[in-house]
Amino acid sequence: MRLCRYGDGALGVVEGTMVRDVSAALDVLPAFRYPLPSHDVMIANLDALRARINELPAARSVPLASVRLLSPVANPGKIVCAPVNYQKHLDEVRDQAELNRGNQAHMAPIHTAGLFLKATSSLVGPGEGIALRKLDRRNDHEVELAVVIGKTGVNVPQSDAIACVAGYAIGLDITIRGTEERSLRKSPDSYAVLGPWLVTADEIANPGNLDLRISVNGEERQNSNTRYLILGVPELIEYASSFYTLYPGDVIITGTPEGVSPIQPGDVISAYVEQIGTMDVKVRAA
Ligand code: MN
Repeated sequence: MRLCRYGDGALGVVEGTMVRDVSAALDVLPAFRYPLPSHDVMIANLDALRARINELPAARSVPLASVRLLSPVANPGKIVCAPVNYQKHLDEVRDQAELNRGNQAHMAPIHTAGLFLKATSSLVGPGEGIALRKLDRRNDHEVELAVVIGKTGVNVPQSDAIACVAGYAIGLDITIRGTEERSLRKSPDSYAVLGPWLVTADEIANPGNLDLRISVNGEERQNSNTRYLILGVPELIEYASSFYTLYPGDVIITGTPEGVSPIQPGDVISAYVEQIGTMDVKVRAA
């Protein structure tokens, strides 16, 4: 199932080039009093939600092209990120001073560099666009496979990891180049784009063999396959969950391949991941 969020918070099922409004199914979600849960309530109740969606009477569909797509996960508790998880991207960071800024920590392989977090306030959907800050510095795109966690897990072994996945989406890890900590440079509002929808895990048997690519204004910049991940999806879940509990709705963006390059206000990004789809994202000045 391909689940999207759009407009003012509607829930949709993507069917071909159309989106069917299934917002009525959200009534299966529990109501809460403060304090609210710190995980994503929709993802935590995904099985019940899907069952309700399948019971709904036929609803109106509208063309996907006519809706403004939001992040398919509204309230992730955390956005976990793999910094250098493709060998050729590590090579280009080591080779280009503009990317590494002479900081050895930015040139370390993932086993040394570990993981980092993007602020959840940086999260948007493709229809909301990217608002660039620090325009005197280089802002780069990074296209990544995004994994949405479906079940609470701590110390999850690789063999159980895929069973913890709710689904997959495309992630853009927008980055201001510079010397500061990654979490600062990668966390301005709109610097995490998730979309165009959530493809539930049952539709993707092997996340370790998916083409991914990105173009800017029609010009291809990155083109690789998740088989080149240094730590694949099961390894990342094992690694992340050895440091912190993973909760439903947590997002892991798995790292970007080689070809990162600058973006500027006015650009249009088109990102693709096999078995997920394509999302177009406009870039503006903040
Ligand atoms: Mn990244």
